[in-house]
Amino acid sequence: MTYRGRFAPSPTGSLHFGSLVAAVGSWLRARSQNGVWIVRMEDLDPPREVPGAAADILETLAAFGMESDEPVMFQSRRAFAYAAAFDRLRALDCVFACWCSRAELESGSAIHRGACIAPSDPARAPAWRLRVPDATIAFDDAGFGSQAQNLRNTVGDFVIRRVEGWHAYQLAAVVDDAEQGITEIVRGADLLDSTPRQIHLQHLLGLPTPEYLHLPLALDADGRKLSKQDRARPVDRTDPLPALRAALVFLGQRIPPASTPAAVLSTAARDFDLAALQAVARTRACTIETDCA
Ligand code: GLU
Repeated sequence: MTYRGRFAPSPTGSLHFGSLVAAVGSWLRARSQNGVWIVRMEDLDPPREVPGAAADILETLAAFGMESDEPVMFQSRRAFAYAAAFDRLRALDCVFACWCSRAELESGSAIHRGACIAPSDPARAPAWRLRVPDATIAFDDAGFGSQAQNLRNTVGDFVIRRVEGWHAYQLAAVVDDAEQGITEIVRGADLLDSTPRQIHLQHLLGLPTPEYLHLPLALDADGRKLSKQDRARPVDRTDPLPALRAALVFLGQRIPPASTPAAVLSTAARDFDLAALQAVARTRACTIETDCA
């Protein structure tokens, strides 16, 4: 089976070092397996989107020598597919409407188990949650080793369709990973604890479960995850080599002596060292329980 990997940025700002690491890690892994690498734009959340960010991210990736092997998928055009998956879950009787306001959720009783904790309100559109079983979902992560999470105790029933009518990231990612035939998901360790939710959704929807390789997370000087919303400094696409080399070092890889991004990447893919990447991941001792951010 051909390896199929993906990089799935959210267009909430320019590419910063943390997202460059995810792009480079997923690209190297795909190329080291002679596989396909696809970019999927996760433009699912209009208020968080920054106009022009999607194009900016694609241009920056190109300047760093990475272009999607297949047409870029835009989640904003895939509502019909998420709605079909939602209907399927509803037919399985494992979703329920939830009228909790954001304030109620933040007041401490956020974990839902089986039902909404607010009274129903026919005058307002609800969010929709997936009812989760009292079962432990386990998987073996190629970066961080064995992982296990009891969904009911840790995350509870989670939102799959939001009040505004948009489908949630967890559902959209699962539907699209299956649609694109992704065989291994390579992404930042901040999503390690989303993986059991996604595996559970795959089981319910009858979709295959890909392999997983979570990458160490780039943190800022205060130990927080770099994120576009915090305006982490964008990488400089007019001078890509320093950030590209820094990303390789961050992933535990050797820096090839080449002088163009494309040549650096292709040599780094040929020499891709999964054991060195795992060594970096393991020094971070990050599991679902210990919080990866
Ligand atoms: N869109 C997510 C992000 O930018 C990544 C989601 C994923 O790789 O599953 O952090």
